[in-house]
Amino acid sequence: MSGFTVNVHGCRGSVPVSGERYLRYGGATTCFEIEISPTERLLVDAGTGAMALHDRLPTGEPLQFSIMLTHLHWDHCLALPFFKPLYHPDNRFTFYGRDVGGMDIEEAIDRVMRPPWFPVNFRGTAAKKQFREVTEEPMWVDGFEIIPRVLHHPDGVMAYRIQRDGKSIVIATDVEHGQAGADEKLLALAGGADVLVYDAQYLPEEYLTEKEGWGHSTWLEAVSLAKRAGVGQLILTSHDPSRDDEGVNAIVDQAQAVFPDTHAAFEGMEIEVG
Ligand SMILES: [Zn+2]
Repeated sequence: MSGFTVNVHGCRGSVPVSGERYLRYGGATTCFEIEISPTERLLVDAGTGAMALHDRLPTGEPLQFSIMLTHLHWDHCLALPFFKPLYHPDNRFTFYGRDVGGMDIEEAIDRVMRPPWFPVNFRGTAAKKQFREVTEEPMWVDGFEIIPRVLHHPDGVMAYRIQRDGKSIVIATDVEHGQAGADEKLLALAGGADVLVYDAQYLPEEYLTEKEGWGHSTWLEAVSLAKRAGVGQLILTSHDPSRDDEGVNAIVDQAQAVFPDTHAAFEGMEIEVG
């Protein structure tokens, strides 16, 4: 086997947005997907971008999902209550995530997906569900080796290196630079990767004046990391909800001047890995 494709269905940080200011990059929140087969999908996060799958899945066949959650902030699991395959008894889901706040992933989702916040209780949805705790141990999911690392973000976040046959992508959405141990871990995780997807929510000047400690990073940190890690391609993600298409374009222009193979994630993007 050779390379693989990662589909971007959502790349907006914090909260979904809509309107003509956001047409190029899209307003749906984080969801990356690998199509294992027409009936089997591996997702990294289930932000509102996951809703795009409704039109891409076959009907009348049992479906299988592996959902790797980076963390549980709402923008990364907001599609779950509305995700149609979760309501069919023939479908199977395996959720992967880190225990946090004394809860495993099942309990954590079930606590927010239930009345009175939502009419249906997560545990009561019809699909078969199993749950796997993610630590920093490498794991195998759907034929991919996945290396997780806990990084710096409020309540913690997992970055994932996903690789097969020597081809690799590192997805580091929602990460703040500046904590030495976490920075070193990410540098090592991204070492020599074909693609690095990295949180560039803030402008460097916004970070310095207001947003330090808010859990996100900048394009300037992204290009620096991409160079040091020797990655092939850099993809900026977690676009700020206030950042319109022109604003993201301006970020890409500046980043490309330092690291030419830089792009901004957009809804519908197909990332060729290797
Ligand atoms: Zn977050």
